[in-house]
Amino acid sequence: MTPYDSLKLELGDRSYNILIGSGLIKNAGDLISPALKQPRVVVVTDENVAPLYLPMLKQSLSAAGISHTDIVLQAGEQTKSLSHLEHVIDALLDQKIERGTSLIALGGGVIGDLTGFAAAIVLRGIDFIQIPTTLLSQVDSSVGGKTGINTRFGKNLIGSFYQPRMVLADITSLDSLPSREVLAGYAEVVKYGLINDESFFDWLENNGHAICDGDLVLRQSAVLASCRAKAAIVSKDEREGDVRALLNLGHTFGHALEAETGYGETLLHGEAVAVGVTLAHDLSAATGLCPLKDAHRVKEHYRAVGLPAAPADIIGVDWQAEAIISHMNRDKKVKDGRLTFVLTRGIGKAFVTSDVALEDVSTTLAAAISD
Ligand code: NAD
Ligand code: MG
Repeated sequence: MTPYDSLKLELGDRSYNILIGSGLIKNAGDLISPALKQPRVVVVTDENVAPLYLPMLKQSLSAAGISHTDIVLQAGEQTKSLSHLEHVIDALLDQKIERGTSLIALGGGVIGDLTGFAAAIVLRGIDFIQIPTTLLSQVDSSVGGKTGINTRFGKNLIGSFYQPRMVLADITSLDSLPSREVLAGYAEVVKYGLINDESFFDWLENNGHAICDGDLVLRQSAVLASCRAKAAIVSKDEREGDVRALLNLGHTFGHALEAETGYGETLLHGEAVAVGVTLAHDLSAATGLCPLKDAHRVKEHYRAVGLPAAPADIIGVDWQAEAIISHMNRDKKVKDGRLTFVLTRGIGKAFVTSDVALEDVSTTLAAAISD
């Protein structure tokens, strides 16, 4: 195994290590052993990831003397549902898991969110470990302890804050990820630079292409910087009382765009985030908060790597500003009837506000729709 990076998310007695490197799945048994209460795990994964990485993981668990079973679910967002949760819980209870048994989530954010939530509630809470295999899950969903499922009323409406015991981000697992999924995760990487780290954004402007094209060393650096940024915010504000809301940069717009396109193949979450982040900069520039040239830099960078940066970049959708705004009004982030946005004073200078005039949102959207 090549050297890996390690960082700690500090949350008192719920602190945990995030390991980032190549070949971690092959060595997972030895790496996770110290974090297990008993040498027994249940691996939850999906049918795309299972043939690629489950045999390797099982072999390393066996070699480390850890007994294991697995649950393989359908791939896709529809798996984050009550019926799949019930299936997982039934399978766990059928196997007579004990309170010392740990779950391992092997897969993207769908598997991580569902498995984490199952771990939070089965037997009133058992440990779980994240082994994220998408760029999005390595830089975002596996870290920070938000777990949950969707309902027909919307995404992530049932869930809990429940931290993993460890995160293993194996950079080599990204080799098999379709490039569209890599780009979707990259949209969130860029977000960290834009929140509070201009030098990281500068670095991404120079290295984004190579990161998206598969350079392992640069990918490891980008995942490390992203996890470090997220861990720092989560350890200050685990339950999104204040600063954690900064991580929602681009998400008020992004979620509305996803709702309009039905959370499907038309627009992946990360693609919606790229457009949403750009719109947040556009809105900030239009209201005089942020230099116009900064908003242009963001738009150009997303477009340069091949991500959409305006609704107009997503073809085949008849975008209407009013429809997008009505989705925003149904978002979880509505507080006392006011929309919360993350706006910015420039690259790396994001802040949270609910002081936004709907007219300005509407004008910004209308301009970006015809962009
Ligand atoms: P995903 O889990 O659906 O994975 C995307 C696709 O890639 C799936 O088809 C999957 O089977 C496949 N895949 C996974 N790893 C692969 C690999 N190494 N090689 C080839 N294919 C692979 O989607 P995602 O983008 O990882 O996660 C999206 C989910 O994460 C959403 O449900 C979102 O709500 C959630 N999320 C949660 C948080 C959080 O804080 N908990 C943050 C962001 C997103
Ligand atoms: Mg996101």
